[in-house]
Amino acid sequence: VRLSAATLEDIAGKAAVPGYDRAKLVPGILHFGVGNFHRAHQAVYLDDLFETGEGHDFAIVGAGVMPSDAAMRDKLAGQDYLTTVVEQDNARTSARVTGPMVDMLPVGDAAAIVEKLADPAIRIVSMTVTEGGYFIDSDGVFDPSHPAIAADGQNPDQPKTVFGLIGAGLKLRGERGIQPFTVMSCDNIPHNGKVCRNAVVGTMRLSDPAFADWIDQTVAFPSGMVDRITPATSQREIDHCRETFGIDDAWPVYCEEFKQWVLEDDFPAGRPALEKVGVQFVPDVSPYETMKIRILNGGHAIIAYPAGLMDVHFVHEAMETDLVARFLDKLEAEEVLPIVPPVPDTDLADYYALIKRRFANPKIGDTVRRLCFDGSNRQPKFIILSILDNLKAGRDPVGLALESALWCRYCRGVTDSGKTIEPNDPNWGHLVERAKAAETDPMAWLAMSEVYGSLKDEPRFAKPFADWLAMLAEKGTAATLKAYLGEG
Ligand code: NAD
Repeated sequence: VRLSAATLEDIAGKAAVPGYDRAKLVPGILHFGVGNFHRAHQAVYLDDLFETGEGHDFAIVGAGVMPSDAAMRDKLAGQDYLTTVVEQDNARTSARVTGPMVDMLPVGDAAAIVEKLADPAIRIVSMTVTEGGYFIDSDGVFDPSHPAIAADGQNPDQPKTVFGLIGAGLKLRGERGIQPFTVMSCDNIPHNGKVCRNAVVGTMRLSDPAFADWIDQTVAFPSGMVDRITPATSQREIDHCRETFGIDDAWPVYCEEFKQWVLEDDFPAGRPALEKVGVQFVPDVSPYETMKIRILNGGHAIIAYPAGLMDVHFVHEAMETDLVARFLDKLEAEEVLPIVPPVPDTDLADYYALIKRRFANPKIGDTVRRLCFDGSNRQPKFIILSILDNLKAGRDPVGLALESALWCRYCRGVTDSGKTIEPNDPNWGHLVERAKAAETDPMAWLAMSEVYGSLKDEPRFAKPFADWLAMLAEKGTAATLKAYLGEG
């Protein structure tokens, strides 16, 4: 059955469908970046809440600024913005059709997006625009000289970035005497609320410094820790959805059973009662965020590059690869868990054990390639901060230096068996060039100060990095992992 509002009754026998009346929903949230993660996480929590009969004035309107978002919009519009979410753990696979999204604005239509942002009914503007979407350097500092931001500074009435659009929306609300909305980042970035605030304020400062100050002082940007492993959708998932549940969904989402959301409770314009469906509201989200980003996202980076270099396709297969699994164990135990500060009501060893079980879940079909993607934006947030913490604690980050060398080796674009790695980073061309230069001069890689800051000049990191890189070139990934594990 082709998924649409009209076919929900037919689908009801095969999957859970919304029990609430979608026609009565009122948009209260505008979301930028309606990719897979948003549809597996925020939209699912809202779907759960709507099922309880509450929060119906917080339906989602989607928005996007990337050309590729137009295709997403066509697919979603073609099925009345419904999404099949397939949740899988080792024992169970279940499908539900979620309905909290009710519309998506035309991509690239600044006037339509700004007008919607000024709608008094919109009280939250949320986003999942990837780690690279915030225009920050390796120190997490916003870069107003980026051409896209500079362009919004020059044409504040025709903004093209998320931050220029949000600023213009806040301005129009101000002119109309409407209370500002709350801005909620849901990306994997340390202190995502603060980073997002800096991006909006920094963009607006280019055209109207006084208004930028007003935003800084007035608008709420709660930070949040978000977690649910959500692979990209491929033909495999589309076919599986049709064959298993009889639902013809142009863009279903497959994800794990586990989900977690820890949020700062700072929503002056109001918020849905998400605590009723499992969201944890805390005064300070940073301990949760550090734990998750260093252990889980860092862990993903640790297994991704050796697995990629050894031609491993799926993440659960990486975990079945003994050398990769033991590399993860040793590195997490020696250089990641020790630098993660305590988290309320959480045992870090238990948390890590859970993460390993989640990585090993064979059902969700997450790919090594997805984890390898966008290292240039992910390494600074997931790995470099842990390197710096080890150095501060007086420990040599030998294992994280190997992780860095594996990423460099991966960016040469060839696996150990000689297979070509297709471009897998927005800066791929540049990375390949640097990785090739690093074959004779390892410092050519660490000279990427936008990733490494000044770590090139820290011999306790730079020396093991150069040694590992040389060993990878000479002996390959497996032998190098063995050497790290004390077996070579
Ligand atoms: P996706 O590729 O499905 O969607 C990404 C969305 O971000 C798209 O709408 C895209 O157009 C938009 N985007 C990308 N770059 C942008 C930019 N520079 N400006 C504005 N929009 C931009 O990816 P996804 O799986 O939905 O993941 C998105 C983000 O969600 C991740 O980068 C991460 O921060 C967060 N997240 C993902 C997961 C996961 O398992 N997938 C888990 C936790 C958090």
